Amino acid sequence: MGNAKKYVVGNWKSNKNSGEVEIWFKQFASLFQESKNKFNNLEIVVCPPFIYLPLAKKLLENYHLPIKIGAQDVSPFPNGAYTGAVSASQISQFAKYVIIGHSERRSNFHEDDKQLSEKVKRAKEQNLGVIFCIQDENTSAPQDVQIIAYEPVWAIGTGKTDTPENADKVAAIVKEKYPDTVLLYGGSVSSENVQSFLNTSHIDGVLPGGASLDPQKFWEIVVNASKI
Ligand code: PEP
Repeated sequence: MGNAKKYVVGNWKSNKNSGEVEIWFKQFASLFQESKNKFNNLEIVVCPPFIYLPLAKKLLENYHLPIKIGAQDVSPFPNGAYTGAVSASQISQFAKYVIIGHSERRSNFHEDDKQLSEKVKRAKEQNLGVIFCIQDENTSAPQDVQIIAYEPVWAIGTGKTDTPENADKVAAIVKEKYPDTVLLYGGSVSSENVQSFLNTSHIDGVLPGGASLDPQKFWEIVVNASKI
């Protein structure tokens, strides 16, 4: 990737109420303002639950934060008679990215490859950047996704990470199958281990879940990532 930007993508999952979203942005913004670092070498993305996308967009504009908003999922259908679904066109009013194929969606919501490829199509129609999650090097991904996140299931929320060496090996295999793809590692990423993943040859960013809920912890990941 040479001098290309490194990605730090926070996945809040199904956490926080609106007051907590406000506090997160307020605290994150004050850390930003104190540091004066614009982090031009990073693409920083935060993915709140759907219901807080408008609030998150408003807050990042109010605080002039140079970060992007992502959604955690998208409907496989366009706008229309699909009760309860949130479409790519609706998401695109508030977010630039969308996570598709997270292992929690595959296991708890029984999402399969066909449905996931429909979701990718809908997202791309609306120019959303797709962050497609795979669980190992054998998980298939649609050919045209820009970003792939390698997230071994056993490392998610467990405090156990893959080794940087093995994650890099998987990243290399994936990049051979999907050339020109940005490759993220996810699975218990923290401020202590982020640099070990970003110092590898094939990993271009990280996708922290738990550690992104706390603005201070997410901030420390951002700061350490920016030093690579
Ligand atoms: C995730 O949300 O995809 C994730 C990897 O979570 P955690 O960082 O908590 O393991």
